[in-house]
Amino acid sequence: MSETVTLTIDGTEITVPAGTTILDAAAQLGIEIPAICYHDSLKANGLCRVCSVDAGWRTNAAACVAECSQGMNVKTQTDEVVRNRRTILEMLSSTVDLSEAPGILALLKESGADPERFAEFKRRESPVYDDNPFYIRDYNQCINCWRCVQVCAEDAQFAFALSFDGRGFETRIGTFMNQGMPDTTCVFCGQCVGVCPTGALKPKRQVLLEQGMNPDDIFRETKRGRKPKREARGGNS
Ligand code: SF4
Repeated sequence: MSETVTLTIDGTEITVPAGTTILDAAAQLGIEIPAICYHDSLKANGLCRVCSVDAGWRTNAAACVAECSQGMNVKTQTDEVVRNRRTILEMLSSTVDLSEAPGILALLKESGADPERFAEFKRRESPVYDDNPFYIRDYNQCINCWRCVQVCAEDAQFAFALSFDGRGFETRIGTFMNQGMPDTTCVFCGQCVGVCPTGALKPKRQVLLEQGMNPDDIFRETKRGRKPKREARGGNS
C-alpha cells in the first residue's frame, strides 16, 4: 500500500496519508461533513449514517469510517446525499425526543428536514431510570449513538457497565439483566454523561435544579458521601 493517497473532495484535490478517513480529509479542506454518533475522542463506528457521502460506491459511504483511496472522487453535497441525510434526521425525530439535543436540532434546521414528516410512526419509549445519586438515564431521548457504551468500555474507562439491549426497533442501551447502575460495574465516573449528545444521560443535580429544587436540598440528595441505594433498581420516575 502506498503511504499517501490522492483524491478529490467536492472538486478539490488533496493528498493524505493512507488510512485517513473521508471525514478527516474533508476537515483538512475546511469541508464539514455533519455527523451525530462520531466523537473526536472515541472510535468511529458509522452508526448514525448522517455523515454518508457519495464516494463513487454502489451505496453511500459513512465518512467517519470510510478510508480515502487513490483516485476517489467524493461528493458531500449532492441532491441524493442531502436527501438521505434529511431523511435520517426526520426518522430520528419521529422516534426519539430530541428536545435537548441542540446539535441535532440545528442539523434538522440546516438540512431543511421536516421533524413532523413521520409523526404518525411509532416512537421508541422507555422508562426513565433514576437509580443512583449521580445521573439519570432517560432513553426516550437516546439515539443509540453508542458513545456512552464506548467511553465506558475500551475507549476510556474499561468498566463495561453499559451495552446494547433488545433487538431491531426495540434496541436500546442497557445494563446486564437490566440491573440498576449501583449493581453494575459502573464507577460513576460521569464520562458517559459527558459524551451523550442528547440529554438522555444527565447529572441528577441538573435535573433537580431544572425541577426547581433548592440547592441545599439537592446537595443533601446527591452528596458524594452517600452510597447509592442498592435497592433502588431500575424503576421509573
Ligand atoms: S444514552 Fe446518550 S450517549 Fe448513550 S447511546 Fe444514547 S444518546 Fe448516545
